[in-house]
Amino acid sequence: MKLICIGRNYAAHIEELKNERPNEPVIFIKPDSSILPKEQDFYIPEFSNEIHYEVEVLIKIKKVGKHINKDFAHKYYDEIGLGIDFTARDLQKKLKEKGLPWEKSKGFDGAAVIGKWIDKSNFRDVNQLNFSLFKNGEEVQKGNTSLMLWKIDEVISYVSTFFTLKKGDIIFTGTPAGVGIIKANDYLSGSLEEHELFTVKIK
Ligand code: ZN
Repeated sequence: MKLICIGRNYAAHIEELKNERPNEPVIFIKPDSSILPKEQDFYIPEFSNEIHYEVEVLIKIKKVGKHINKDFAHKYYDEIGLGIDFTARDLQKKLKEKGLPWEKSKGFDGAAVIGKWIDKSNFRDVNQLNFSLFKNGEEVQKGNTSLMLWKIDEVISYVSTFFTLKKGDIIFTGTPAGVGIIKANDYLSGSLEEHELFTVKIK
């Protein structure tokens, strides 16, 4: 399976990183080896002094699809989740400056936190979901899927024009503003509407 991530999907986050607003979604892939095993602590890797959290709404693909029309995209997923796209921001900055791929800064072991899944039928409108990240009990990121530049169905459609989507693939739909650094002994938790979907200890 693969993890497909969308970059720059919330205007306020684009501004905080001083990135250009893209005309099309930015896409990158994390390998399946980047998934942090359930219940495991996250260890800050030695190659970075600036690991950032990015809380993101996740979509789990339920069947194979290619060139999926936006109007049919909702048929390709049932479950919605929440996770973290951990990013070695210092390394990413260097790679970006040189015009090199970001993979090392985004795809390292443990860089993908995947929380519990909720059937989308529990929600009235997937384009009106509140979600938050808490660090040591304090809310540090707060988003709503209505603020996505490309909504869930558009993301699925766009991604599937480049990559065949397979059952079990997971899409990270981008992070809202408020990304920041983690340090050893921090404790992160993420909520989607009233559901707490993950907790992670930082070591
Ligand atoms: Zn991200």
